[in-house]
Amino acid sequence: MIPFNKPPYTGNEEQYVLDAMQSNKISGDGFYGKKCQQWFEETLPCKKALLTPSCTAALEMAALLIDIQPGDEVIMPSYTFVSTANAFVLRGAKLVFVDIRQDTMNIDENLIEAAISPKTKAIVPVHYAGVACEMDKIMALSEKYGLFVIEDAAQGMMSHYKGKALGTIGHLGTYSFHETKNYSSGGEGGLLIINDDRFSQRAEVIREKGTNRSQFFRGQVDKYTWVEVGSSYLPSELQAAYLWGQLEKAEEIKQNRLKIWQSYYDGLKFLADKGMIELPIVPNSCTHNAHMFYIKLKNIEVRSSLIEHLKANDIMAVFHYIPLHSSPAGYKNSCFHGDRGFTQIESERLLRLPIFFGMTDKEVSKVIFHIVKQGDLL
Ligand SMILES: *Cc1c(COP(=O)(O)O)cnc(C)c1O
Repeated sequence: MIPFNKPPYTGNEEQYVLDAMQSNKISGDGFYGKKCQQWFEETLPCKKALLTPSCTAALEMAALLIDIQPGDEVIMPSYTFVSTANAFVLRGAKLVFVDIRQDTMNIDENLIEAAISPKTKAIVPVHYAGVACEMDKIMALSEKYGLFVIEDAAQGMMSHYKGKALGTIGHLGTYSFHETKNYSSGGEGGLLIINDDRFSQRAEVIREKGTNRSQFFRGQVDKYTWVEVGSSYLPSELQAAYLWGQLEKAEEIKQNRLKIWQSYYDGLKFLADKGMIELPIVPNSCTHNAHMFYIKLKNIEVRSSLIEHLKANDIMAVFHYIPLHSSPAGYKNSCFHGDRGFTQIESERLLRLPIFFGMTDKEVSKVIFHIVKQGDLL
């Protein structure tokens, strides 16, 4: 069986987790937590990086930080994971969906301006498959209309847009370390990236249950107290220790995935040249992290048959997302601005192939072989 995903594991994680367990400090912001945050602040780089229990939690913090109020509007693609939406709906926001681009599956930067209203507070670009949205254009709109930009870079760690790390371009950015992403902190985890210093101190407070405990530990205040609304957005030291094992090998993991991605691309290119399938497109302004390898089929029927054929040959290929505007919760909290053409059509014909750190050449060849074998169906 070739699974769709295997959690990334490079070898040192076990030792670091054990070390953390034996350190008698296993709550958040210990030795490994600080080490990871420092790595991000120096490597990305960014003003401040805070580990969170998930990307979902980081997005929730972002919504609190920009002070979303009931009735505020937030612009995002409908083709995204539910967490992008939930974080803002929880604070009472109304979502305004904008169609995606056919080539990258990212929000169409040219459709955003028409969706801006006096109630708009933020734009949330989602960097699908670790390939960047057209950020120059989005940041220009942010400046023109005074809007916050929160990058959902859940899939985008180690990807760049014009040389800048994803998540470091908007006011705030978020990563996911869920086991299905390129880098994991032991199954669940995330990161809040702060690029605008105005948010640094409040982010620490919100993350520490609304207290100034972080300042207290740095000796900046002599006792800690409740200073504003907050929650618990710290991951444990065990999660950070696992993540440290991955950060040490961040480049190795990326190169391994890129190699697999390229093998798929080269092996399937002749089908694309014949017009039977479509392959992913990476604009020149982007370098990517091979988070995903997808192909596009003619329609949903062809996709379903191919999934069946691959499954019969012990290969797990999957699709996602059902666009949020057509989901039961989406009806209540959102509206779609303009045409929903590509969101609907492209999401129904996209198929994700297995890709994970350590996937062997033999496994990649087997997947390619079974797709090619179904040529008549394509
Ligand atoms: C995975 C993902 C999330 C959620 O990440 P968690 O760490 O599981 O909370 C959010 N947005 C996008 C685009 C994702 O792919």
